[in-house]
Amino acid sequence: NLSFKLDKAFQTLKGQGQITEINVASTVKEIRKALIDADVNYKVAKEVTDDIKEKAMGQDVLTSLSPGQLLVKITNDELTGLMGGQSEDIKIDGSPAIILIAGLQGSGKTTFSGKLASYLKRQGRSVMLTACDIYRPAAIDQLKVLGEQVGVEVYAEPENKDAVKIAKAAIEHAKKNNYRIVIVDTAGRLAVDEQMMDEIARLKEALNPSETLFVVDSMTGQDAVNTAKAFNERLNFNGVVLTKLDGDTRGGAALSIRRVVDKPIKFISTGEKMDAIDRFYPDRMASRILGMGDVVTLVEKAQQAFDQEEAARLNKKIRKNQFDFNDFLSQLEQVKKMGNMKDLLGMIPGMGKAIKDIDIDDNSFKPIEAIIRSMTLSERENPDIINASRKNRIAVGSGTSVQQVNQLLKQFSDMRKMMKTMNKMGGGKRALSALN
Ligand code: GDP
Ligand code: MG
Repeated sequence: NLSFKLDKAFQTLKGQGQITEINVASTVKEIRKALIDADVNYKVAKEVTDDIKEKAMGQDVLTSLSPGQLLVKITNDELTGLMGGQSEDIKIDGSPAIILIAGLQGSGKTTFSGKLASYLKRQGRSVMLTACDIYRPAAIDQLKVLGEQVGVEVYAEPENKDAVKIAKAAIEHAKKNNYRIVIVDTAGRLAVDEQMMDEIARLKEALNPSETLFVVDSMTGQDAVNTAKAFNERLNFNGVVLTKLDGDTRGGAALSIRRVVDKPIKFISTGEKMDAIDRFYPDRMASRILGMGDVVTLVEKAQQAFDQEEAARLNKKIRKNQFDFNDFLSQLEQVKKMGNMKDLLGMIPGMGKAIKDIDIDDNSFKPIEAIIRSMTLSERENPDIINASRKNRIAVGSGTSVQQVNQLLKQFSDMRKMMKTMNKMGGGKRALSALN
């Protein structure tokens, strides 16, 4: 019924003056929630979304054709930038070049060492692996198995309990055998502790690696950030490896870690097999974080609110009794874009009544549109000037009949009367309650 339609109309139109900041704010809030859902650290998510908000406000998001998409793009660009923008390569320097692998136990160091060896070998480099996990004999065997699998020699001294000495001997061995790169796998602990940090720090000092990679399990969420911080303070590593990004791990750790320690993520590990290694691409990770957190959907929902910018403009014209055929046409175009015409048309004040009993399909608007398009601009702005001869011209031009033109003019004039009445009654809510 009419009051129901009007109710809808006012839901759409009311309070439009405040749209801008409120809607950006609420959309940004949704983005923040999604980031947190994607495992981004709360503090980081807040900082990031504050930045996005500022950028969004500066970029005329609200008046753009597709504010939702623009907001998604801003978010995507922001995340990409925060994760370094570009993909960063591993540094290989020295003869041999030393790559030191650090991280907690179970983070995936040994697995990654095997993968990295295989990756570098596929690039045509001569690589050697070294087992410096002196606490678990099984770890040495594990590396040996992986080395065999990828065809890379593994240097080990199972009886030696001094990691630095083993590593130095390994480097001598590499020099003798013309290996250009030595990957040093180390021991981890279940949690950050002094002894482990001490050992890895001593290794770094003794070996002067060209690359110290911190390996972290992306599934550990918030802990990953704290671990990264602790290792970075002690080791000042120069790259991060994110493991276990297979399955539905959401990758928010990438953003948090990069933001907190400001070191590039260089590789990601996506499975237990030796070929499950990839370079890290910030833009891909941004899409992953966005997609997993379902930000796109959330933003699209919020966009429905942004479309009301146009409604706000119309509302203003309605209030000033200036609603004309140009506005009507732009309304029709909106409706065509969005589908479900009857519902949407019902949101235009006065239209609910006019279309209540009409069976509407997409084609029913064609004659209306044709008629309006056959009007001159001044006729659209001021329909009162449309006299008999003008009606004739419009009917011919639009392939309709004078009767159809009359009908539309009548409907339009009814609609404007209705709007005027509502305005007199004080608009918005008060008009509604008067009608109820
Ligand atoms: P380390 O203690 O740091 O040397 O960790 P490991 O390399 O021994 O890995 C610990 C466990 O995680 C092993 O069962 C690995 O197979 C598994 N793992 C390592 N990397 C990945 C990965 O990217 N994805 C999955 N699903 N499992 C992994
Ligand atoms: Mg290991």
